[in-house]
Amino acid sequence: MAYSLNSKIRNLKPYDPIQGTYRIRLDANESFRQPPKEILSKISDVVAKIEYNRYPDPYAEELCHAFADFYQIDPVNVMAGNGSDELISIINEAFLMKGESVMTLSPDFSMYRFYCGIGETKCFEYQKKDDYSVDIDELIRMVNDYKIRMLIFSNPCNPTSKGIKRDDIRRLVQSVDALVVLDEAYMDFWNQSMLCEAENYDNLIILKTCSKAIGMAGIRLGFAIANQTLIRTLKAVKSPYNVNIVSQKIGTLLLREEKWINSCIQELVASKNALYDKLKRVESNNMNRMTVYNSATNFIFIKISDGEKVFENLMKQGIAVRCFGNYLRITAGTLEENEDFITAFETALQ
Ligand SMILES: *Cc1c(COP(=O)(O)O)cnc(C)c1O
Repeated sequence: MAYSLNSKIRNLKPYDPIQGTYRIRLDANESFRQPPKEILSKISDVVAKIEYNRYPDPYAEELCHAFADFYQIDPVNVMAGNGSDELISIINEAFLMKGESVMTLSPDFSMYRFYCGIGETKCFEYQKKDDYSVDIDELIRMVNDYKIRMLIFSNPCNPTSKGIKRDDIRRLVQSVDALVVLDEAYMDFWNQSMLCEAENYDNLIILKTCSKAIGMAGIRLGFAIANQTLIRTLKAVKSPYNVNIVSQKIGTLLLREEKWINSCIQELVASKNALYDKLKRVESNNMNRMTVYNSATNFIFIKISDGEKVFENLMKQGIAVRCFGNYLRITAGTLEENEDFITAFETALQ
């Protein structure tokens, strides 16, 4: 007798983020800000009153209300998840049957493809242009020609940090029969969100996360926003208590700290702009070695020859960034961290 793993999981490896201790972490697009003392003490008060022995609200209604209020949308169009990663998984399970076709864009967030493998769906890939733009008409044609059931992509994009304008997104959603899953993880840093009009479409789900602009990666909160039929379906297929009570309480509190969140977004954008300027200066001295791309997010994407060597060298200097072959993705840190990174980066280039 012998048990053997099935073929779809046999060769999978556990997710392996950069671990270990680094002086500076610019690898995961997290916020560099921690809530101030006043807010931390409100959190302590809330945490002290939690009924740990009770199951949480399965629909996290208070939390969804706080989220909806912050973005000025209707809470009936919102569902909470244990990070948006969980929501991607639930959407794959719910809206796709085995063998149906999914389309992802390339390059894009790697998790989209991962769930296709697990779900035994067929995954097609739209290759972006050399400048990482998307030809929307071509994409529409492909989605329809391949009878795609679900199209999923990030806007603005992780890792390219490039965005697609709202008019193009609208045209795309209106021109396909596929479900469009629009991951707006970084839209707090840009101004082309579709959030306020999600309810008008029967084939659009928008994903938001609290892990980036809002600075709560540690408590795992993501949201799906869609019309009521889609939201009701998502609620029906998720596991009952997917968002734990601690995250519900703390998330509700933080999402009601509107001033604080807005100041975070401003500061992250300012840091990104400063990092961009510094990298552009390095680029001007290394014209044939690197390209710095415009950014609609809180990170900068660069192309660099010997990317992996530069990456290894930065690690040795105690600085973690993300490396994709000859490309690096650098999260904007505090102004000091950015300075420090640039010095280390110039050393690594030598
Ligand atoms: C970081 C990121 C997420 C993950 O969000 P969680 O809520 O932390 O699971 C989702 N999508 C994109 C594009 C991301 O970059």
